[in-house]
Amino acid sequence: MDPLAIDRTHLWHPYTSMAAPQPVHRVREAEGIWLTLDDGTPMIDAMSSWWCAAHGHRHPRLVAALEAQLHSLPHVMFGGLTHDAAIGLAARLVALLPPGLDRIFCCDSGSVSVEVALKMAVQAQLARGARGRTRFATVRGGYHGDTWSAMSLCDPVTGMHGHFGAALAVQHFTPAPPVAFGADWPEDPARNGLGAVAALFEEKAAEIAGFILEPVVQGAGGMRFYHPAFLRGLRALCDRHGVILIFDEIATGFGRTGRMFAMEHAGVTPDILCLGKALTGGMMSLAVTVASTAIAAGISAGDPGVLMHGPTFMANPLACAAACASLDLLAETDWQGAVARIGAQLARELAPARDLPEVADVRTLGAIGVIEMRAALDGAQVHGFCRKAGVWLRPFGRLLYTMPPFVTGPEDVSRITTAMVAIAREAT
Ligand code: PLP
Repeated sequence: MDPLAIDRTHLWHPYTSMAAPQPVHRVREAEGIWLTLDDGTPMIDAMSSWWCAAHGHRHPRLVAALEAQLHSLPHVMFGGLTHDAAIGLAARLVALLPPGLDRIFCCDSGSVSVEVALKMAVQAQLARGARGRTRFATVRGGYHGDTWSAMSLCDPVTGMHGHFGAALAVQHFTPAPPVAFGADWPEDPARNGLGAVAALFEEKAAEIAGFILEPVVQGAGGMRFYHPAFLRGLRALCDRHGVILIFDEIATGFGRTGRMFAMEHAGVTPDILCLGKALTGGMMSLAVTVASTAIAAGISAGDPGVLMHGPTFMANPLACAAACASLDLLAETDWQGAVARIGAQLARELAPARDLPEVADVRTLGAIGVIEMRAALDGAQVHGFCRKAGVWLRPFGRLLYTMPPFVTGPEDVSRITTAMVAIAREAT
């Protein structure tokens, strides 16, 4: 049987119908920024395979680390046992994170790290005696994953999960942070979005365990960049009302916005932090939930005194070894320079799209470039165009965006921007 027919008949792809599957390109191999398709067609992975492949694909250092781990300890349970790959990962993460954010729980995916963060928050509140604090708050326009509780905290309209509505826990939403990154910050809480949070907390704080949001960049919920001052105000409000602050840096962590972590734009430290995606340089599925010393101490002092989570593949040694190697690569390379260079080029070369009538906005931050259209793009049409253009892009609704690997050179960044502007032009 034709392999693509097997794929079409038997394999579910993300957010697709089995009755009318979307077209797919068959990838034979990947190296650096390049994907090679079944017929030898090369395509730049302008998506870093959904934010992951920051160093490009199959980086020799990551391959070597995985090979070495494969030949010593590919997997072992983490209950009652430990290993150097996890210990090395913990040491590297603690050195990167702000002081006091240092109790690391390893999970297998970003969505699960969000679930763990929510459990941590509820357990920490229970330990404080706040039995009624079982709900969460968030901003509109967010995305936190596809598992049950993560879905309840995605924007009910843009977050892809609105139709599960009544089946999900009822959470509290405040408006998306209204002030854009780089705009003037209005101190008036009615205009900067903090008034709505304050009002929610005044009325409902007694039932809110935590507030979760993506710092500075709202990714899959709209690719919006908002003012870091919002996070400073939110931190103060959470402290005043006993609400645990959770940052979801699954997409933004590890340099993508020009800082190691997007929260550094605000100088704010959360109580709990979720990291994933680029953590392993895109080699393996791994995420972590990091609690502050105080949150971990609270959970330990409460009942039952342990964090109630423990997945089978927790701290898988292969994934941890890949993460250690990826973090070492970051430490050894001038990723700040690369992100600044890519960002400046994206800003310069995407700017002409602003003049197209169908384009609503063009924005960039770090090594992220976004063209927001006025109407949804035709996904199948863009899919076909990508093969011809040799650039892999996957639009989402009205959004056409790129977050290329940090190793993408100027000529290849230009290929990406040329393809994006051409797609936007085609749609007009
Ligand atoms: N949180 C954010 C901000 C994300 O961008 C994503 C994935 O796109 C997730 C959570 C979920 O991560 P995963 O797809 O690894 O479960």
